Amino acid sequence: MSGIWIYSEDSVIAKELLTAGLELKASMGQSVGVITLAGDEQNAFIAAGADKVCILKGQNPWPESYAGAVADVVSKEQASVLLVGGTLRGKDLAANASAALRTGLVTDALTIQYVNNSIETTRLVYGGLAIQTEVISLPAFVTVPPRTYREAPAMTGRQGEVFTVEVDTIASGISISNVCPIIREGADISTANRVVGVGRGFAKREDLAMAEKLAQAIGAEIGCTRGIAEDSHWLPSECYIGISGQKVKAELYIAAGISGQVQHIVGVRDSKIIVAIDTNEKAPIFAAADYGIVGDLYEVLPLLAGAMEGK
Ligand SMILES: Cc1cc2nc3c(=O)[nH]c(=O)nc-3n(C[C@H](O)[C@H](O)[C@H](O)COP(=O)(O)OP(=O)(O)OC[C@H]3O[C@@H](n4cnc5c(N)ncnc54)[C@H](O)[C@@H]3O)c2cc1C
Repeated sequence: MSGIWIYSEDSVIAKELLTAGLELKASMGQSVGVITLAGDEQNAFIAAGADKVCILKGQNPWPESYAGAVADVVSKEQASVLLVGGTLRGKDLAANASAALRTGLVTDALTIQYVNNSIETTRLVYGGLAIQTEVISLPAFVTVPPRTYREAPAMTGRQGEVFTVEVDTIASGISISNVCPIIREGADISTANRVVGVGRGFAKREDLAMAEKLAQAIGAEIGCTRGIAEDSHWLPSECYIGISGQKVKAELYIAAGISGQVQHIVGVRDSKIIVAIDTNEKAPIFAAADYGIVGDLYEVLPLLAGAMEGK
């Protein structure tokens, strides 16, 4: 067995997985390949560290229908590891491909290491309260949530092998009767560089204007805790951050009136700088924060926004 392979229907996620793949390459001494539906990204993958790129060409528009093709490539290449982007579609494909090849599959891995000729992964369980370590023998299939790794940076002067596989994906037991695109109401906070998070410390919906003012002053998007979106419906559900919501990997995350329960922290802890504003000095958010302000957000937010606006 030789080769670490990566698949995602999303090229950005594939580049994130290249970071994980290159770490495994360093410990396993095996080449890294990308299986993709995006033929126009082949040079970008090679620049980001791929030694091989396999382009799947087929007529079927549904990425999950390429599971058999991915399994074929992985099998022919005698891959020891397949990393799959952990979107809903990626998980569907990974499950089908691993069943086809009877390999072990770990989902939602946050870390991946090569240890004693096996792959050791960690993932969160019990709503983020515990970390589970799993060890699977090779060949190992692993899905990785989006934004777990940073995108592998492009390097100059890299060369790689590119090959195309024609795929007949028409035969399927599923027929699509209707397609309804999801209509997003809020901004995509998962890719935002700066986020101001709002929690139940806000007494009423109109008060969110204070957070919006600060966000505007520093060029940030607004995120929130689950209750603000799902219970109060003050913000759309795609704005809430945490284990069951979005994950942010911002340069700056400012949490205002957020207690910092683990289910929320899981979604923000990969941010570079976390600033917390809370009246309760014992709030758990302060343990996760780089900077903490013990104070009333109704006083602190206008002061911060004013300072940023140079007033
Ligand atoms: C299975 C499961 C999954 C979950 N998933 C998520 C998830 O993905 N994301 C998520 O966010 N939550 C999630 N939760 C809910 C989570 O456990 C917490 O209940 C939630 O994060 C708390 O939200 P909060 O911090 O806004 O509210 P609270 O915990 O009520 O905290 C409000 C904070 O505001 C402070 N405060 C009050 N007034 C002021 C003021 N004037 N100025 C400054 N500070 C003030 C308080 O001191 C307090 O610390 C989940 C729960 C479960 C059981």
